[in-house]
Amino acid sequence: MQEKIFRAEKLNTLGEMAASIAHEVRNPLTVVKGFLQLMQADDRQGKFPYLPLVLSELDRAEAIISDYLNFAKPKLEKMEVFDLGEFLDDMVQLLNPLSIKKSVALTGKMETGIQIRTDRNKLRQAVINLMKNAIEATPPGGRVSVTLSAAGTEAEIKISDTGKGMTTEQLARIGSLYYSTKEEGTGLGTMVSLSIIEAMGGKTVYASQPGVGTEVKVFLKRNESHGG
Ligand code: ADP
Ligand code: MG
Repeated sequence: MQEKIFRAEKLNTLGEMAASIAHEVRNPLTVVKGFLQLMQADDRQGKFPYLPLVLSELDRAEAIISDYLNFAKPKLEKMEVFDLGEFLDDMVQLLNPLSIKKSVALTGKMETGIQIRTDRNKLRQAVINLMKNAIEATPPGGRVSVTLSAAGTEAEIKISDTGKGMTTEQLARIGSLYYSTKEEGTGLGTMVSLSIIEAMGGKTVYASQPGVGTEVKVFLKRNESHGG
């Protein structure tokens, strides 16, 4: 298995610029979307059959913008203590519709009693991106599993898939800005995840084999007052 371990990547200036542009562009987009939705509601005769397509492209633009905003602001804001296993079970639930759509079996197996103290929303974003990539890489009939276990003072989240995997070259490029092999990919998801995990003082380790699958491990410090 090829492995890649991530270290700090500082892209602050670029990040701030991206954030301000993304923020400014989001507002007019929201207004346009609102009017188009009104048009669609009024269009009982079906004079504008392309409206759903226009709206779905707007959704895509919005998704790209939120990727940018997340990429630009990996700073942790609201810190909370919570149960990591319960949190991950929720993430599995959340991505269940996507896995069903792709005919991929998504399962979770979490060790109980693992607490963590961090920004829940940021962790959610980080984990969702990694899980989405796993599901997207996996062909119909394949499997994606999410597990949580204690590893000393750390919590180990493992997301493994039976997907297409990555070559050494691809693995070397993952997490770099705009690297995507997908037709509609932004190449921002992994960057966002890695910078959030980095900001949490955590570590991400990839192992992958073309045609076999990929395994991403995320190590995060457990909350000290709860054992470990
Ligand atoms: P996007 O998903 O928009 O393409 P990402 O930054 O999330 O951007 O991922 C970058 C690229 O890394 C993907 O296009 C894909 O080629 C590769 N990749 C990420 N996760 C996996 C995975 N679990 N299995 C195979 N390839 C992956
Ligand atoms: Mg992605």
